[in-house]
Amino acid sequence: MAKPKIGIYGLTGCAGDQLMILNLEDELLDLLSKLDVKSFIMASSAHDETDLDIAFVEGSVSTEEGLERLKDIRKRSKMLIAIGDCAVWGCVQAMRNQEMSMEEKMRKVYNKEENFYDVLEPKGLSAYVNVDLEIPGCPIDKTEFLHAVLSLLHGDLPEVKDYPVCVECKLNEYPCLLVEKGMPCLGPIIVAGCNALCPGLGVDCIGCRGPIKDETNAAEELTILKEKGYDERYIENRLRFFGANFEGIAKISKMLREKTSGKGGE
Ligand code: SF4
Ligand code: SF4
Repeated sequence: MAKPKIGIYGLTGCAGDQLMILNLEDELLDLLSKLDVKSFIMASSAHDETDLDIAFVEGSVSTEEGLERLKDIRKRSKMLIAIGDCAVWGCVQAMRNQEMSMEEKMRKVYNKEENFYDVLEPKGLSAYVNVDLEIPGCPIDKTEFLHAVLSLLHGDLPEVKDYPVCVECKLNEYPCLLVEKGMPCLGPIIVAGCNALCPGLGVDCIGCRGPIKDETNAAEELTILKEKGYDERYIENRLRFFGANFEGIAKISKMLREKTSGKGGE
């Protein structure tokens, strides 16, 4: 059987997900022997912009140039896989969305009226093109990536987790940091897959795998953390760190903005 032709690409992000693939170390050579890698610029300057079986894309769409690049990759690929939170949700750079326009920022920071940049509001890939699979994480877990590729090589789609970090936390019988210590843990709304790494170390989850699609009740998390005595601005910032583009979190930001400007009620 011919090896699948793949490409690994980066849009706006820190390239940490591509680095995690290279960090596979012990498995990397075996894995690459099963694939025909046409483009992976972080690993090799030799690349061929040809048709692909699978494209892996990290990074958010944050510029017109990035959007054109994504559309070209989508056109050439039978499958498109978003790797990492930037490609899934927009991640950290999406924190600037809804805050102020680029023109306002230019004025505030540089005291200039011009807008020199072709920037868009940072968003995940699925805001613009069809995405066949999303692998969350900031950065991705290299073993999760490996399992996904092995499933694809067998002609299957890998398991997509649709339950929260709390489930893994309870399976490990870790004490609940939110209930027992009042720590601002985001585990109830964050997609599982890390085996509750942070609570296992006594550290509250900050949400680096992003919210659970179609399941997350961010408003309830806000209520619980307020009841624990946290300030709603603090909670909002915590929620926005990785999930600013998530609808339920954006609604909280809008509600707080309106409250500050005197338009909204309690
Ligand atoms: S410590 Fe966090 S992840 Fe674990 S059960 Fe409590 S809220 Fe959920
Ligand atoms: S921040 Fe949350 S999602 Fe990220 S590794 Fe820690 S427990 Fe897992």
